[in-house]
Amino acid sequence: MNKKLNYKKFSLKVNLTVWYIIILLLVLIFFSSILYLYLEEQLKQEVKNILELEIENIKEEIKRFDNSNNNYLNSIINNKNIKTVFYSKQGDLKTEILKDDSILKIIPKNINKKNDFKILKYQDNKWALMVRPFYLSSKPEEKAGYIMMLYSLAKEESMLKKLLLILIIMIPITLILASGGGYFLANRALKAIDIISTTAEKISQSNLSRRISNSKNREDEIGRLIKTLNNLFDRLESSFYRQKQFNADVSHELRTPISVIKAQVDEALDEDELTSEQKNILLTIKKQIAQMNNLISQMLILAKADENNFELDKEEFDLNIVVDTVIEEMNNLALEKNILISKEIIVNDDFKIKADLSLITQLLLNIFDNAIKYTQTNGKIKITLNKLDNYYKLNIIDNGIGIAKENLTNIFKRFYRVDKSRSREYGGTGLGLSICNWIVNTHGGEIKVNSSLEEGSKFTILLPKN
Ligand code: ADP
Repeated sequence: MNKKLNYKKFSLKVNLTVWYIIILLLVLIFFSSILYLYLEEQLKQEVKNILELEIENIKEEIKRFDNSNNNYLNSIINNKNIKTVFYSKQGDLKTEILKDDSILKIIPKNINKKNDFKILKYQDNKWALMVRPFYLSSKPEEKAGYIMMLYSLAKEESMLKKLLLILIIMIPITLILASGGGYFLANRALKAIDIISTTAEKISQSNLSRRISNSKNREDEIGRLIKTLNNLFDRLESSFYRQKQFNADVSHELRTPISVIKAQVDEALDEDELTSEQKNILLTIKKQIAQMNNLISQMLILAKADENNFELDKEEFDLNIVVDTVIEEMNNLALEKNILISKEIIVNDDFKIKADLSLITQLLLNIFDNAIKYTQTNGKIKITLNKLDNYYKLNIIDNGIGIAKENLTNIFKRFYRVDKSRSREYGGTGLGLSICNWIVNTHGGEIKVNSSLEEGSKFTILLPKN
């Protein structure tokens, strides 16, 4: 399976920290390598200087005794770290090699590079090798032979090994500490962005008049972002406001011409000489005007709902009495379809509520109107009224056409109708339930629906007592 890592799903904090660690790792490796190579070169130079000095001392001594015979040269003591051997002026080995001095066994019997410095590897150790000519004081211009000096690099090697070990241990430790620091810094830097996005989210969800606060008066990138977003919200708010205002104004403006048309149609219908065809036309116009009137009234209510500072006109009344009034008002409509409306009071008590009477009446009218509209002839509508601790619970149950499950979440949206032509036929606008939803919510209550297709619907309204 070829699963590619998707970096986009990690948070910006993690991404930043990972990049920071990768860059830090590269920098550490680069500087560690430079440090290691520099130290290695320095040590090499130092060894070269030591050998140069040692050879110079031996050369001086040979000159002092002016002797280059084998016995004399062999008497120059080799110690553990520095070994000295001599070659003739032709380049042949003159020093006797003892059996136990194993390093000396690898040196050439004859040398051709007669002025040389190099590093040799023998078994696990490294040795520095230097070849220089020596002279006798009796013949200062003629080479008497060559000195080869070997220097054990064990000390230098162990120093370099220790350095390497320290670097290998320190790099991961530094990275772990730095990743904690990096995450902390990224978190700090992005916290402001986190706050901005949660506030911005709340602004779009609740109301557009809220703004992101710049309490620390930042003038950096974050400050600029806050300013840009707030300017955007300013523009959005004013364009939303203009749009809402436009809807409200249009609805208002339409009211007068519509009532004039309605009055004219009514007047025309009173004429005696109308043919039945003319009468039908006028009646159709009247029906359409009633529907338009209904739409405009509902749009005006929604314009109110869109006002940010809308205030409820609360008063105390008995919910049960209002339910009775609305039933009575709706009864004629129900009788036209021979629908029986019944009411059941679960708790025998009063139903005093503090709410906006005209809105609650509108709410009940809409729900009852729907129940009648979407229930077949000879159907039944049952209303139950219950008193809970802090709420009144009202159920409006019909045995009408019902609503399919997939449409249930949409019916509270503006202009949503399950069956447009059916709704229009009954004078529906698709705005009734969105108005109900707003009325209930603005009172701090809840509206729910349970429904099965062909079986009927149950609308439950919970309204707080105060
Ligand atoms: P409308 O003006 O179309 O009735 P509403 O907002 O009042 O608009 O209702 C939205 C839709 O929900 C309706 O078009 C209808 O399809 C459905 N609906 C509402 N109440 C009922 C009900 N009691 N029974 C069946 N369907 C309903």
